[in-house]
Amino acid sequence: MVKWVRRWRTHFTITALPAASRCGKDAMTTPRLVAFDLDDTLAPSKSPIAPRMGDLLIALAERVQVAIISGGHLAQFTTQVVDRLPAADPAVRASIHLLPTCGTQYYRLTDDGVRTVYAHALSDEEKMRALAAIEQEARRLGLWESETWGEILEDRGSQITFSALGQHAPLHAKTAWDPTGEKKNSLRAAVAAIIPDLEVRSGGSTSVDVTHRGIDKAYGMRQLAEQTGIPLEDMLFVGDRLDPDGNDYPVLALGVRCHAVSGWEETALFLERLLPTL
Ligand SMILES: [Mg+2]
Repeated sequence: MVKWVRRWRTHFTITALPAASRCGKDAMTTPRLVAFDLDDTLAPSKSPIAPRMGDLLIALAERVQVAIISGGHLAQFTTQVVDRLPAADPAVRASIHLLPTCGTQYYRLTDDGVRTVYAHALSDEEKMRALAAIEQEARRLGLWESETWGEILEDRGSQITFSALGQHAPLHAKTAWDPTGEKKNSLRAAVAAIIPDLEVRSGGSTSVDVTHRGIDKAYGMRQLAEQTGIPLEDMLFVGDRLDPDGNDYPVLALGVRCHAVSGWEETALFLERLLPTL
């Protein structure tokens, strides 16, 4: 599986991307908006961005619109990114768009924080069914861990999230828990069979997310197009899980130009090559 993903990723990065994604001077079109996944694309999972990444994001926002789309909630965006950005002109900050929980919520940066554009939520009845289905199936599959760092289940308003080792699990534990993605994927399939009217997706390294149907990062990209007036073909997306089982894949399937990375350092290198072309 890993080998296949690597092969696919290589093929995808080298041959399937237009020149612009490879940062060539001969770029077919210059993106007007660059969107990023958060965990393992801008920073290690649930960790703050490095100062180098903060500088690069601001430099990018000086040139084009910048968006971040993740399954995470707003608090994560705040602690991982917003609080770590270097000082910038209000007009530059206003070029940064935040789409937590895959774009079911939409915020813009302001001088002193964030402004809500919209926030959609699951109903109480939908939340209860999602929470019950996840716990039942995680226990049945032996994936309900007893030693965790924080809560396993979390109500994010528009999204219910299962984090196998708890919300605050350290990176090394999360990485070791399900290196092949097999546990997450089996839980995802089992829960999806019980609540077919809701969308069930594998999220970060140990997480499974439940939202309204049709809510994935492609939905977030369409919201971005609607809110900014920038067509999808003028956008570029950067993510670490563009493989078919990954939570970034819907963006690729939507036909948006994508660039695959395996970690934030690779994203930083990519931006260092992209910025002079913008
Ligand atoms: Mg990611």
